[in-house]
Amino acid sequence: MGDGEARNRRLIERVSSYEKAMRALSDAQLQDKTREFRERLAQGEELDRLLPEAYAAVREAALRVVGKFPYDNQVLAAIVMHQGNIAAMKTGEGKSLTATLPLYLNALTGRGAILVTVNGYLARRDAEEFGPVFEFMGLRLAVGVPEAGAPDFSAREKQEIYAADVVYSTSDKVGFDYLLENLAGTSEDKYLRPFNYVLIDEADAILLDLAQMPLVISGSPRVQSNLYPLADAFVATLRQGVEYEYDESAGVVHLTEDGIAAANRFFHVDNLYDPQYFQLNRHVNLALRARTSFQPMRDYMVMGGTLVLLSSVTGRLLEGNKLQGGLHQAIEGRESLEITTENRAMASVTYQNLFLMFDKMGGMTGTAKGSEKELLKTYGTKVVEIPTYRPVIRVDEPDVVVATAAEKERLVMDYVEEVRKTGRPILLTTASVQSSVKFSQYLLDRGIEHNLLNALSEAKEAEMVREGGRKGAITVATLIAGRGTDIKVTPDAKDLGGLVIIGTEKLPNQRVEGQVRGRAGRQGDPGSSRFYASLEDDLFVKWGSIKQEDLHKRRRSPGTMRRLLDRAQRASEESASGARKLSKDFDIAMARQRDLVYAMRDQIITGEPITRDDVETIAAGVLADAAAAHAWETPGSVMRYIFDNLSYHLPDDFDTLDTANQHHVRERLSAMFSRAIEEKVDLLGEEVYARFQNIVFLKSIDVAWVEQVDFLEQLKTVVKDRNVAQHKVEYEYRREAYFAFEEMKKRINRDIVRLLCLSRIERGADGGLVIQFA
Ligand code: ADP
Ligand code: MG
Repeated sequence: MGDGEARNRRLIERVSSYEKAMRALSDAQLQDKTREFRERLAQGEELDRLLPEAYAAVREAALRVVGKFPYDNQVLAAIVMHQGNIAAMKTGEGKSLTATLPLYLNALTGRGAILVTVNGYLARRDAEEFGPVFEFMGLRLAVGVPEAGAPDFSAREKQEIYAADVVYSTSDKVGFDYLLENLAGTSEDKYLRPFNYVLIDEADAILLDLAQMPLVISGSPRVQSNLYPLADAFVATLRQGVEYEYDESAGVVHLTEDGIAAANRFFHVDNLYDPQYFQLNRHVNLALRARTSFQPMRDYMVMGGTLVLLSSVTGRLLEGNKLQGGLHQAIEGRESLEITTENRAMASVTYQNLFLMFDKMGGMTGTAKGSEKELLKTYGTKVVEIPTYRPVIRVDEPDVVVATAAEKERLVMDYVEEVRKTGRPILLTTASVQSSVKFSQYLLDRGIEHNLLNALSEAKEAEMVREGGRKGAITVATLIAGRGTDIKVTPDAKDLGGLVIIGTEKLPNQRVEGQVRGRAGRQGDPGSSRFYASLEDDLFVKWGSIKQEDLHKRRRSPGTMRRLLDRAQRASEESASGARKLSKDFDIAMARQRDLVYAMRDQIITGEPITRDDVETIAAGVLADAAAAHAWETPGSVMRYIFDNLSYHLPDDFDTLDTANQHHVRERLSAMFSRAIEEKVDLLGEEVYARFQNIVFLKSIDVAWVEQVDFLEQLKTVVKDRNVAQHKVEYEYRREAYFAFEEMKKRINRDIVRLLCLSRIERGADGGLVIQFA
């Protein structure tokens, strides 16, 4: 890093060297800089060369508009982010202000800059505060997320938004917009520009924690199954270690011989593993997983009769998210809820691939510790540590480790009482909603007033977290409740020693522990943090090297327990990292296919018109495949083929057809196809026919692609359950995905031929086309 560091130092100096000159400008002169920069860019000057002056201009604008002048350290972070790297900037150091610099610079190109953060509340909050700075400098800023509870924007509104110089949005929203746009039928429904620059706030949360689950758009429902409650009723009778085995850390569960026998009896079948019982078998497996790998209040909650997932990392509600592949329904079965429809996945993308589509990606986060390698490998981004403006004087105390959860909870409560006497504000953090409710109850039992934050709205949480720094305040919160919002410690609370962070269990990795500690000691404030952990913590139950039943057979020293817990934490992080890698690897195959399909669609929507030759070539291919598949061996089968693909009427000379001469059959069918097209052109006129043809192409692609995406989603679970080595899993996935894709392309062509020939078209009352697809 040495060289880069020296270069960046020099860059900071150059930015500062313009400070006086910028200060001396009138508002109008400063605003005119944008025009000047753009002109210089147009004349071929590089963004990098423009950086010092552009940063100095925004710095001055920020001072004039919001009264905040970015410090040198913030300029350094802004340089790092422009270079396509991640600035590790401690909480409270002012990342939101810093972001304006690289966003302005990269938006000067006219190709757009997008900031994404973890929730809509933060996107709107920052846009509101810093929008005026961009406006002052003559750039247009748009917010990419609708107000909480409001419906999504229309395509027209999105065109407005994405045409803006700078867009503030969330990672989800940009991902879904990308997927949705590629379901568009005409160029009027498209709204994205080619992805240019993205700046990711809370980069570790988005690039690592959230990246384990792909974004999925669901479409038409699969045929509904009534097996879920039944399978659950069966599984409820089974005992672990007798009828089934469950390996918690691998997340693998399966029936034993006894279990299979029990299933055969319960369902009155001769052999559950017989292919004819595929669906039954699948439902039993799902029910087993629902009962073993998922726990109420830890993984999900039931609210108003519906199942809501909880993020395992943050304890936050994942409203609207559903588990794929029938698991969601299996848990509904277990909870005796109404079974919701199981939808097909229509389009899906991982964050990894979404962000790699941008020409450049920068990020900022308070905590990237321990994940630098993974970030570099996955995204090609370096993590650059930015020194704090004021030294951090927070005291991070060593963990307190004990053997049992009960003992730990008692110690936590004693510590709360002890701190409470001093008046210092307390933030008690828990890893799950369940545990936050438990600690809240303990506090109530002791008559201690407090705020409980676990699953409220983002805006409400932000408000409560802000209050959390008053003297005597006690806040119980799940991990990132209110993340992104400053806990402002009041002066009297500062004098008492500042905020006290209490962690109540060992967390999945050091990074999230760092996030929690970082809530205290912002901007040189005093504060302290202390974690309590036990060998009965979820993390140890799952990743520890000692079985829970053997746990208390002997006493262990705190040092030993600490080492055991650290090792469990490492195992957990390695597994999470492996899961992210697998998810990315899976998506590589999908991404290639997605790119091809989206390019096909784009070609139809915006490219050269499809020619008669193109269509004839497609038909020739389809007929060649049919011939190779022996589809026309008898007059009856030719007749069937014609009705299914080419025409509702047999040609007059059909009885002269000689099926012994396949070449001859093929020529006759090919002529039929050409005639069908000519008839349509005569009927509709060239122009209307061309529109009809476009619709047919798009529909054929979409129908096949939806099936393909759904298949690929299911294929993931299928190959994972195959229990082969990890590299093999990926290989098998890629191979089968490839064959399925080749099959899909053929299917698209078959559908094009069929829909072109067999669809009925009428003009609607309003002059539009009414197409009845075959
Ligand atoms: P982070 O996202 O890094 O945790 P924020 O962006 O929320 O931090 O900023 C924390 C606080 O510091 C905000 O109130 C912000 O306005 C303030 N701040 C940041 N930079 C400056 C600056 N250069 N001058 C004055 N205040 C600043
Ligand atoms: Mg922030």
